[in-house]
Amino acid sequence: VIVRLVIGLGVAAFVSLAGARAGALSGSGALAAIAVGTAVILGTSWPGAVVLGVFFVSSSALSRLGRPTGIAAKGSQRDAPQVLANGGVAALGGLAGLWFDGLLALALVAGALGAAAADTWATEVGSRSRTPPRLLIAWRVTAPGTSGGVTALGSLAALAGALLLGVCSSLLALLRFDAPAAGALAIGVTVGGVCGSFVDTLTGELLQERRYCPDCRQATEALVHRCGTPTLRTGGLPHLDNDAVNVLCTLTGALAAGLILILSR
Ligand SMILES: [Zn+2]
Repeated sequence: VIVRLVIGLGVAAFVSLAGARAGALSGSGALAAIAVGTAVILGTSWPGAVVLGVFFVSSSALSRLGRPTGIAAKGSQRDAPQVLANGGVAALGGLAGLWFDGLLALALVAGALGAAAADTWATEVGSRSRTPPRLLIAWRVTAPGTSGGVTALGSLAALAGALLLGVCSSLLALLRFDAPAAGALAIGVTVGGVCGSFVDTLTGELLQERRYCPDCRQATEALVHRCGTPTLRTGGLPHLDNDAVNVLCTLTGALAAGLILILSR
Protein backbone atom coordinates (compact mmCIF):
# COMPACT_ATOMS: atom_id res chain seq x y z
CA VAL A 1 0.00 0.00 0.00
CA ILE A 2 2.86 2.37 0.83
CA VAL A 3 4.47 1.69 -2.57
CA ARG A 4 1.15 2.35 -4.32
CA LEU A 5 0.69 5.55 -2.29
CA VAL A 6 4.09 6.85 -3.42
CA ILE A 7 3.52 5.84 -7.07
CA GLY A 8 -0.03 7.29 -7.00
CA LEU A 9 1.19 10.54 -5.53
CA GLY A 10 3.96 10.78 -8.12
CA VAL A 11 1.73 10.04 -11.12
CA ALA A 12 -1.07 12.32 -9.84
CA ALA A 13 1.38 15.16 -9.19
CA PHE A 14 2.97 14.80 -12.63
CA VAL A 15 -0.37 14.81 -14.49
CA SER A 16 -1.89 17.59 -12.36
CA LEU A 17 1.10 19.88 -12.79
CA ALA A 18 1.04 19.21 -16.55
CA GLY A 19 -2.66 20.12 -16.47
CA ALA A 20 -1.91 23.32 -14.57
CA ARG A 21 0.81 24.26 -17.08
CA ALA A 22 -1.59 23.61 -19.97
CA GLY A 23 -4.04 26.02 -18.31
CA ALA A 24 -6.71 23.41 -17.52
CA LEU A 25 -6.27 23.73 -13.74
CA SER A 26 -5.67 26.63 -11.37
CA GLY A 27 -3.11 26.26 -8.55
CA SER A 28 -5.71 25.13 -6.01
CA GLY A 29 -7.31 22.99 -8.72
CA ALA A 30 -4.00 21.18 -9.28
CA LEU A 31 -3.67 20.43 -5.54
CA ALA A 32 -7.23 19.06 -5.45
CA ALA A 33 -6.51 16.99 -8.59
CA ILE A 34 -3.39 15.51 -6.91
CA ALA A 35 -5.56 14.44 -3.94
CA VAL A 36 -8.22 12.90 -6.20
CA GLY A 37 -5.63 11.10 -8.38
CA THR A 38 -3.76 9.72 -5.38
CA ALA A 39 -6.98 8.39 -3.77
CA VAL A 40 -8.09 6.73 -7.03
CA ILE A 41 -4.71 5.07 -7.71
CA LEU A 42 -4.37 3.99 -4.06
CA GLY A 43 -7.62 2.01 -4.22
CA THR A 44 -7.78 0.84 -7.83
CA SER A 45 -4.14 0.80 -9.02
CA TRP A 46 -3.41 1.42 -12.71
CA PRO A 47 -6.90 0.68 -14.15
CA GLY A 48 -8.32 3.59 -12.14
CA ALA A 49 -5.39 5.77 -13.20
CA VAL A 50 -6.10 5.03 -16.88
CA VAL A 51 -9.83 5.80 -16.48
CA LEU A 52 -8.98 9.07 -14.72
CA GLY A 53 -6.48 9.93 -17.47
CA VAL A 54 -9.00 9.27 -20.26
CA PHE A 55 -11.58 11.45 -18.51
CA PHE A 56 -9.13 14.28 -17.82
CA VAL A 57 -7.55 14.41 -21.28
CA SER A 58 -10.84 14.11 -23.23
CA SER A 59 -12.64 16.72 -21.11
CA SER A 60 -9.75 19.21 -21.18
CA ALA A 61 -9.38 18.78 -24.95
CA LEU A 62 -13.12 19.35 -25.49
CA SER A 63 -13.10 22.43 -23.26
CA ARG A 64 -10.35 23.94 -25.40
CA LEU A 65 -11.96 23.02 -28.72
CA GLY A 66 -15.20 24.55 -27.45
CA ARG A 67 -13.75 28.08 -27.37
CA PRO A 68 -14.24 29.72 -30.75
CA THR A 69 -10.98 31.69 -30.45
CA GLY A 70 -8.90 28.65 -29.53
CA ILE A 71 -7.50 30.51 -26.52
CA ALA A 72 -8.30 28.98 -23.13
CA ALA A 73 -11.00 31.21 -21.69
CA LYS A 74 -10.87 32.13 -18.02
CA GLY A 75 -13.84 29.88 -17.28
CA SER A 76 -12.14 26.73 -18.58
CA GLN A 77 -9.56 26.73 -15.76
CA ARG A 78 -10.89 24.52 -12.99
CA ASP A 79 -10.36 25.53 -9.36
CA ALA A 80 -10.40 23.31 -6.26
CA PRO A 81 -14.20 23.33 -5.59
CA GLN A 82 -14.88 22.44 -9.25
CA VAL A 83 -12.29 19.64 -9.25
CA LEU A 84 -13.68 18.21 -5.98
CA ALA A 85 -17.29 18.52 -7.24
CA ASN A 86 -16.38 16.48 -10.34
CA GLY A 87 -13.77 14.16 -8.79
CA GLY A 88 -14.64 13.90 -5.08
CA VAL A 89 -17.06 10.99 -5.51
CA ALA A 90 -14.51 9.19 -7.73
CA ALA A 91 -11.86 9.69 -5.01
CA LEU A 92 -14.13 8.17 -2.35
CA GLY A 93 -15.06 5.33 -4.74
CA GLY A 94 -11.36 4.65 -5.32
CA LEU A 95 -10.67 4.55 -1.57
CA ALA A 96 -13.42 1.90 -1.28
CA GLY A 97 -10.91 -0.43 -2.98
CA LEU A 98 -8.82 -0.42 0.21
CA TRP A 99 -11.63 -2.18 2.10
CA PHE A 100 -13.74 -3.88 -0.58
CA ASP A 101 -12.66 -5.50 -3.84
CA GLY A 102 -10.83 -3.61 -6.55
CA LEU A 103 -13.47 -4.33 -9.19
CA LEU A 104 -16.23 -2.59 -7.20
CA ALA A 105 -13.90 0.38 -6.62
CA LEU A 106 -13.17 0.55 -10.37
CA ALA A 107 -16.93 0.51 -11.10
CA LEU A 108 -17.53 3.35 -8.62
CA VAL A 109 -14.65 5.43 -10.03
CA ALA A 110 -15.61 4.84 -13.67
CA GLY A 111 -19.33 5.40 -12.97
CA ALA A 112 -18.63 8.74 -11.30
CA LEU A 113 -16.27 9.82 -14.07
CA GLY A 114 -18.66 8.51 -16.76
CA ALA A 115 -21.30 10.87 -15.38
CA ALA A 116 -18.82 13.75 -15.17
CA ALA A 117 -17.72 13.05 -18.77
CA ALA A 118 -21.33 12.90 -20.01
CA ASP A 119 -22.04 16.23 -18.31
CA THR A 120 -18.87 17.91 -19.60
CA TRP A 121 -19.30 16.61 -23.16
CA ALA A 122 -22.96 17.67 -23.22
CA THR A 123 -22.01 21.19 -22.11
CA GLU A 124 -19.04 21.64 -24.45
CA VAL A 125 -20.48 20.02 -27.58
CA GLY A 126 -24.03 21.20 -26.90
CA SER A 127 -22.83 24.82 -26.84
CA ARG A 128 -22.16 24.43 -30.58
CA SER A 129 -25.74 23.42 -31.32
CA ARG A 130 -27.52 25.60 -33.88
CA THR A 131 -30.93 24.94 -32.34
CA PRO A 132 -31.40 26.70 -28.98
CA PRO A 133 -31.60 24.55 -25.82
CA ARG A 134 -34.94 23.72 -24.19
CA LEU A 135 -35.60 23.08 -20.50
CA LEU A 136 -36.15 19.33 -20.15
CA ILE A 137 -39.36 19.46 -18.06
CA ALA A 138 -40.90 22.82 -18.97
CA TRP A 139 -39.88 22.24 -22.64
CA ARG A 140 -39.48 25.94 -23.27
CA VAL A 141 -36.60 27.49 -25.21
CA THR A 142 -33.92 28.93 -22.91
CA ALA A 143 -30.63 30.83 -23.24
CA PRO A 144 -27.53 28.70 -24.09
CA GLY A 145 -25.62 27.83 -20.92
CA THR A 146 -28.71 27.73 -18.68
CA SER A 147 -28.70 24.82 -16.22
CA GLY A 148 -31.33 22.25 -17.17
CA GLY A 149 -31.26 23.18 -20.86
CA VAL A 150 -30.87 20.32 -23.37
CA THR A 151 -30.15 20.06 -27.09
CA ALA A 152 -30.19 16.97 -29.32
CA LEU A 153 -26.48 17.48 -30.07
CA GLY A 154 -25.62 17.84 -26.37
CA SER A 155 -27.62 14.71 -25.45
CA LEU A 156 -25.79 12.68 -28.10
CA ALA A 157 -22.49 14.02 -26.76
CA ALA A 158 -23.50 12.96 -23.22
CA LEU A 159 -24.15 9.43 -24.49
CA ALA A 160 -20.78 9.44 -26.30
CA GLY A 161 -18.94 10.63 -23.16
CA ALA A 162 -20.57 7.94 -21.00
CA LEU A 163 -19.88 5.32 -23.69
CA LEU A 164 -16.19 6.27 -23.92
CA LEU A 165 -15.72 5.69 -20.17
CA GLY A 166 -17.86 2.53 -20.35
CA VAL A 167 -15.80 0.98 -23.16
CA CYS A 168 -12.51 2.07 -21.58
CA SER A 169 -13.28 0.67 -18.11
CA SER A 170 -14.66 -2.49 -19.70
CA LEU A 171 -11.37 -3.12 -21.55
CA LEU A 172 -9.44 -2.52 -18.32
CA ALA A 173 -11.71 -4.95 -16.43
CA LEU A 174 -11.07 -7.55 -19.15
CA LEU A 175 -7.29 -7.17 -18.69
CA ARG A 176 -7.33 -7.10 -14.91
CA PHE A 177 -10.38 -9.25 -14.02
CA ASP A 178 -12.59 -11.39 -16.32
CA ALA A 179 -15.15 -11.24 -19.16
CA PRO A 180 -18.28 -11.04 -16.95
CA ALA A 181 -16.67 -8.13 -15.09
CA ALA A 182 -15.96 -6.41 -18.42
CA GLY A 183 -19.59 -6.83 -19.51
CA ALA A 184 -20.94 -5.50 -16.22
CA LEU A 185 -18.70 -2.41 -16.39
CA ALA A 186 -19.53 -1.70 -20.05
CA ILE A 187 -23.25 -1.58 -19.22
CA GLY A 188 -22.96 -0.19 -15.66
CA VAL A 189 -20.65 2.72 -16.45
CA THR A 190 -22.50 3.74 -19.64
CA VAL A 191 -25.93 3.55 -17.96
CA GLY A 192 -24.53 5.24 -14.83
CA GLY A 193 -23.06 8.06 -16.91
CA VAL A 194 -26.34 8.67 -18.76
CA CYS A 195 -28.37 8.50 -15.50
CA GLY A 196 -25.95 10.91 -13.81
CA SER A 197 -26.22 13.40 -16.64
CA PHE A 198 -30.04 13.06 -16.53
CA VAL A 199 -30.03 13.81 -12.77
CA ASP A 200 -27.72 16.75 -13.49
CA THR A 201 -30.18 18.17 -16.02
CA LEU A 202 -33.25 17.59 -13.80
CA THR A 203 -31.75 19.12 -10.65
CA GLY A 204 -30.24 21.89 -12.76
CA GLU A 205 -33.70 22.89 -13.98
CA LEU A 206 -35.84 22.17 -10.90
CA LEU A 207 -33.67 22.57 -7.77
CA GLN A 208 -30.53 24.56 -8.55
CA GLU A 209 -30.34 28.04 -7.09
CA ARG A 210 -31.15 30.75 -9.66
CA ARG A 211 -29.61 34.20 -9.23
CA TYR A 212 -30.01 37.61 -10.83
CA CYS A 213 -27.77 40.68 -11.17
CA PRO A 214 -29.89 43.77 -10.36
CA ASP A 215 -27.40 46.10 -12.09
CA CYS A 216 -27.16 44.30 -15.43
CA ARG A 217 -30.67 42.79 -15.16
CA GLN A 218 -29.21 39.44 -16.17
CA ALA A 219 -29.75 35.90 -14.93
CA THR A 220 -26.54 34.32 -13.62
CA GLU A 221 -25.27 31.44 -11.46
CA ALA A 222 -22.52 33.47 -9.76
CA LEU A 223 -22.78 34.85 -6.21
CA VAL A 224 -20.98 37.98 -7.44
CA HIS A 225 -21.67 38.95 -11.04
CA ARG A 226 -18.77 39.62 -13.42
CA CYS A 227 -19.59 43.34 -13.12
CA GLY A 228 -18.75 43.12 -9.38
CA THR A 229 -22.32 43.45 -8.07
CA PRO A 230 -23.51 40.84 -5.52
CA THR A 231 -26.40 38.89 -7.05
CA LEU A 232 -29.85 38.05 -5.60
CA ARG A 233 -31.43 34.61 -5.31
CA THR A 234 -34.59 34.38 -7.42
CA GLY A 235 -35.44 30.69 -7.08
CA GLY A 236 -34.29 27.15 -6.37
CA LEU A 237 -32.76 25.80 -3.17
CA PRO A 238 -30.25 28.05 -1.34
CA HIS A 239 -26.59 26.93 -1.73
CA LEU A 240 -27.50 24.24 -4.29
CA ASP A 241 -25.08 25.64 -6.86
CA ASN A 242 -23.51 24.07 -9.94
CA ASP A 243 -20.84 22.31 -7.85
CA ALA A 244 -23.52 20.66 -5.66
CA VAL A 245 -25.38 19.55 -8.80
CA ASN A 246 -22.15 17.99 -10.12
CA VAL A 247 -21.73 16.04 -6.87
CA LEU A 248 -25.28 14.65 -7.28
CA CYS A 249 -24.51 13.83 -10.93
CA THR A 250 -21.31 11.88 -10.17
CA LEU A 251 -22.87 10.20 -7.10
CA THR A 252 -25.72 8.92 -9.30
CA GLY A 253 -23.23 7.58 -11.85
CA ALA A 254 -21.13 5.81 -9.20
CA LEU A 255 -24.13 4.26 -7.40
CA ALA A 256 -25.76 3.09 -10.65
CA ALA A 257 -22.53 1.49 -11.92
CA GLY A 258 -21.82 -0.13 -8.53
CA LEU A 259 -25.38 -1.46 -8.27
CA ILE A 260 -25.36 -2.92 -11.79
CA LEU A 261 -22.03 -4.64 -11.05
CA ILE A 262 -23.32 -6.12 -7.76
CA LEU A 263 -26.59 -7.30 -9.36
CA SER A 264 -24.69 -8.94 -12.24
CA ARG A 265 -22.73 -11.23 -9.90
ZN1 LIG B 1 -23.91 42.64 -13.27
